[in-house]
Amino acid sequence: LYSITCHCGNASQAVTITHLGDEIALCHKTEERHITGVLCTSYETIDKPEKYDQLRQFTGSDGTRYWCGTCGCHVFLHEDKGGESVWLVPTGTLIGLDTHDEKRTVERMANTYACHNAVKSTVDGGLSSVSIVQSTHGSTSKGAQGDVLHLSCGCKKVQMRITRPNNVSSSCRAKFPDLLMPYHSSDPLAVQNQGHKAWWLRPADSSKPNKYLAGTCACLTCRLTSGFEIQNWAFVPRTNTTLYFDGSKKPIPLDFNSLSVKTSLGTYQSSKGDINAFRHFCLQCGATLFWRDAYRTDVIDVSVGLMDAPEGARAERWLDWCTYRVSFSKDAALGRTGKIAVPAKSLIQGLEEGIK
Ligand SMILES: [Zn+2]
Ligand SMILES: [Zn+2]
Ligand SMILES: [Zn+2]
Repeated sequence: LYSITCHCGNASQAVTITHLGDEIALCHKTEERHITGVLCTSYETIDKPEKYDQLRQFTGSDGTRYWCGTCGCHVFLHEDKGGESVWLVPTGTLIGLDTHDEKRTVERMANTYACHNAVKSTVDGGLSSVSIVQSTHGSTSKGAQGDVLHLSCGCKKVQMRITRPNNVSSSCRAKFPDLLMPYHSSDPLAVQNQGHKAWWLRPADSSKPNKYLAGTCACLTCRLTSGFEIQNWAFVPRTNTTLYFDGSKKPIPLDFNSLSVKTSLGTYQSSKGDINAFRHFCLQCGATLFWRDAYRTDVIDVSVGLMDAPEGARAERWLDWCTYRVSFSKDAALGRTGKIAVPAKSLIQGLEEGIK
């Protein structure tokens, strides 16, 4: 028996992994990216779980997803494979052996990440070319730049549009992210960015920036609010972002004080890790939408998995990827005990080496 949890603890329980010793695949499918917000997902096969009534559910083309309505974490995926019922648990929720297990399961070697699924659907290789198993798939086709980037969650209840940087984009205020200034080793005053450097615009220091910075986060909070090992964020000014709800063509400005946003988005404030920050998710399918500072909301972190860029999942005509570090890479083992931390650590390590 293994323990799983989401960030708020609502999903905490023990599960039985049925295929220990197997290899885990990283899945890059378009549907997976949109319904989770992350660029690649991974699951363990388990016996039917005991508790899932307390979770929200959404049924899509590939099965029913159970996710936590409080923190937005994906917890189970129930598939019907030709009459056979298959239960899966996102690997990010696994934290170690169940300590209350009276059968005292002897911990066997944890499963390892070994292959990629559905890389073709990413067009550009998505995250596959930058992690454990190198994938050769990638496209360099040229096309129109485009002025608007479309985003949507898996159920399409929440859609977004992002526009190219303009004059207003550079006058926003935001402190530096851990990605650019590691919080554990940086001067806290410097992190505040009192010189108002528009670090989110790319190319850096260009007079005509046309892209936004994007990066990879492996922190505990990202992991336990998504359910997956790796989150990819794009840093975009709020003024360049517009929301659309329930298929309506009426644009809703991203104003966090307005009531429509509060009632239409799932909102979670974690007390540890990112105090004074909010995470928003789709209330219907649980997709992670964005992260924001509670007080300085000028620049938000948007889930790259939601993006529909014709050039591919990495949206490289819109995003300039930070290639020298993964944020909070040491967190892969945080909150985890025993062998379950081993493959997670090597996955993040491989990712850090792969993006360089
Ligand atoms: Zn939760
Ligand atoms: Zn949705
Ligand atoms: Zn994070």
